Amino acid sequence: MSGKIRLSKSSVSQAEKDAVVKVLDKEYLGMGEEVKLFEEKIKNYLETSMDVVCVSTGTSALHLALSALGLKDGDEVLVPSLTYIASYQAISATGAKPISCEINPNTLFLDVDDAKAKITKNTKVIMPVHYASSSKGMDEVYELAQEFRLRVVEDAAQAFGSKRDGKLVGTQGDIICFSFDGIKNITSGEGGAILSNDKEFIQKVQDARLLGVEKDTDKRYASQRSWDFDVKEQGFRYHMSNIMASIGIVQLDRLEDFKIKRQNIAKKYVQAFRHIEQIQTLDFNFDEVLPHIFVIKVDKRDELREYLIANNIECGIHYKLNHLLSKYKTDYVLPITEKIYEDILTLPCHFDLTEMEQDIVINRIREFYNA
Ligand SMILES: *Cc1c(COP(=O)(O)O)cnc(C)c1O
Repeated sequence: MSGKIRLSKSSVSQAEKDAVVKVLDKEYLGMGEEVKLFEEKIKNYLETSMDVVCVSTGTSALHLALSALGLKDGDEVLVPSLTYIASYQAISATGAKPISCEINPNTLFLDVDDAKAKITKNTKVIMPVHYASSSKGMDEVYELAQEFRLRVVEDAAQAFGSKRDGKLVGTQGDIICFSFDGIKNITSGEGGAILSNDKEFIQKVQDARLLGVEKDTDKRYASQRSWDFDVKEQGFRYHMSNIMASIGIVQLDRLEDFKIKRQNIAKKYVQAFRHIEQIQTLDFNFDEVLPHIFVIKVDKRDELREYLIANNIECGIHYKLNHLLSKYKTDYVLPITEKIYEDILTLPCHFDLTEMEQDIVINRIREFYNA
């Protein structure tokens, strides 16, 4: 075996390199026609009626979305504790408070009953997370949102290309945020996108990504900019650059290949662990879910993890629980989430993982459990 088996990595072909050089040669690096094209291509790929707004990161997508909803000090956002710290920072950046919720132990998706129990008069938004790219349970989230008149911001950072009930994520719902960071399902280097059918919201987000300069997006797409403008809202410098978009466009063309590979890796793990009683896979349909990470629940997690690391196999724990961090510490406990945190382990899953490498991962795990 040569070197380490990687947990995750970007997959960059000659086509991405060529695309970047082409933008560099044009010497228009900021936000212009490539960004516009990437947005159009995302819309076409998803066959969605929603508008698509590309931004600098998945985190800035979430932050822009939440701030365009007018969140302010004292407002509350329901969110599972088991998520990347980005979800929490995006909420607290608006002044609102993340309210940490439990998860379903079989899908690790937001527990809607627990979320419901935590609704107060200050609750404005519910932010479910497409953990490991699955969003089974979203229908119940929308029912709850309707009952209590909450907006829904889907943290779909991990779910680009994933389906739910036969429909691609980003074709239905209120507000959807994707990430295109280096190791997500597709990458634009760094990057993110916000999707919605709410035209007023989209206009706000488009302006706010360019420092709040009103209607600057249209000008930039015509390779111009606004010299005479007004600003009424807080804005940010969160736009996407042409360099990033050019990478994203190529990656989008490669998505079908990425999808087949990642789903096959997941299916092979599921099959291999089926009869090992110390391992449980998540309740996902890998014909629909396009897994950004492959997570299992296991006995003796820390010992298994050390064993794999000692055998040159990278693995991860996604994620450190947010409600236990100093900044977001709660005065209540989340028993289900805290128990599950002790059991979860993320195994190598990326486009360039070879069959031989995956066989090694599986065999080492079998060895560990004498299975
Ligand atoms: C990756 C990720 C983000 C943030 O996206 P970036 O592009 O890295 O800023 C937010 N939430 C979740 C669940 C993620 O996995």
